[in-house]
Amino acid sequence: METPQFLPLGEGLELTSQEMGSGQLVLHVTATSSGSACPLCAKPATHLHSRYSRVVKELPCAGQQVQLILHVRKFFCDTTDCARKIFAERLPQLVAPWAQMSTRLCQAIQAIGLATCGRLGARLASRLGITTSWMTIVRRVMALPTKPAENVYCLGIDDFSFLRGRMFGTVLVNLDTHRVIDLLPDRQAETATAWMQAHAEMTHVSRDRGSEYASAASRGAPQAMEAGRSLPCGQKPI
Ligand SMILES: [Zn+2]
Repeated sequence: METPQFLPLGEGLELTSQEMGSGQLVLHVTATSSGSACPLCAKPATHLHSRYSRVVKELPCAGQQVQLILHVRKFFCDTTDCARKIFAERLPQLVAPWAQMSTRLCQAIQAIGLATCGRLGARLASRLGITTSWMTIVRRVMALPTKPAENVYCLGIDDFSFLRGRMFGTVLVNLDTHRVIDLLPDRQAETATAWMQAHAEMTHVSRDRGSEYASAASRGAPQAMEAGRSLPCGQKPI
């Protein structure tokens, strides 16, 4: 069937049928190209391995939930020295590998999250016909690529609450510029340690009294001085 203009699918994809099911519009989309490029070696492959279906949430249409059933394929990579022998074809114009929502829907949720600073985002999304949760909005916003922080000499580190005291992340502030430079998805010492280890330029750390951040500072930035102490983070008092 002809793909409607309001549903751009990209080259090599075709709308093959549609139905109403469980209160939502279900669109079956089939890959029609003769082959796909191997994601590892980038060589074209046409040797079919199998077919399978992926279920992906799409942006709502005229107030109706939309679900895509993607009928896609796996191919053999016949390049002799390629480590990937079998791969699932990619649909970069429509959905990221293994994602359960289309790129369009993902971008809409990110925009809602940024516009609402996360607050009330799920309620606004619902008004727009997008069924999602507060945590999904937070995860999508945090997945946005950000410019890596550079020249962080004085770091402030503290936790913040995602969900009214039930889930916590870590906020990192450049104390020289007073700007938030990163958010970490939890408040585990390992996560903060890894971040600090990538910033050997740090000279000072200001943290709360929690033992997780103390551990992170002593392992991740042992050279830095800690606010309120006269010793570097990595040195214990005698
Ligand atoms: Zn390959």
